[in-house]
Amino acid sequence: MITIALSKGRIFEETLPLLEAAGIQALEDPESSRKLILATNRADVRLIIVRASDVPTYVQYGAADMGVAGKDVLDEHGGAGLYQPLDLNIAKCRMMVAVPNGFDYASAVKQGARLRIATKYVQTAREHFAEKGVHVDLIKLYGSMELAPLVGLADAIVDLVSSGGTLKANNLQAVEHIADISSRLVVSQAALKLKHATIQPMLDAFAQAIRQE
Ligand code: ATP
Ligand code: MG
Repeated sequence: MITIALSKGRIFEETLPLLEAAGIQALEDPESSRKLILATNRADVRLIIVRASDVPTYVQYGAADMGVAGKDVLDEHGGAGLYQPLDLNIAKCRMMVAVPNGFDYASAVKQGARLRIATKYVQTAREHFAEKGVHVDLIKLYGSMELAPLVGLADAIVDLVSSGGTLKANNLQAVEHIADISSRLVVSQAALKLKHATIQPMLDAFAQAIRQE
């Protein structure tokens, strides 16, 4: 049995065509089903539905043989025990620093001010500001980061941006690009060894199906 860990929403939707290219079709839609284990057309392949940030953990411990996770999540996790053979080029967005319109970020940085940064991505933010030599206090949040600077919790946020619509709606602007983000296939190093004959053809099919742009 091959177990593939996916999260609901955009990753599931954008992974489906890749799975289909490998001859794998989900028999149920996780958005309408409450099941967390989904059968596929292949008796030897099943999908499990987990939180996006939990995908690396399931694969690392071998509870899933492979999974799809954003680079944002993998950077936070650290990637121990995970083989990352493919950038799937899906769920693309950018990790950015954003501040309220009118906040002079460049001057604050130049003056060596200590900045308060709210983010779900504490590890990524810590590394980014350490590299720049900017002193920061990091405040861990689990969502709706855009709110933090509006109510005085933080000076700036580190968050994913795609269209910029959410920033704009909350009078924020992106001031620094940290990284380009996309989702990656992650494979358990143990599973790759033990189930190589089944997994390798799947990896080849995924590689063939990745859209380049
Ligand atoms: P939850 O909503 O369960 O708290 P989450 O917010 O991490 O989890 P999603 O918002 O579905 O889950 O994001 C899943 C992944 O999709 C992220 O890890 C990231 O790689 C990618 N992603 C997030 N936001 C965007 C976006 N605006 N555009 C494209 N990809 C994104
Ligand atoms: Mg979300």
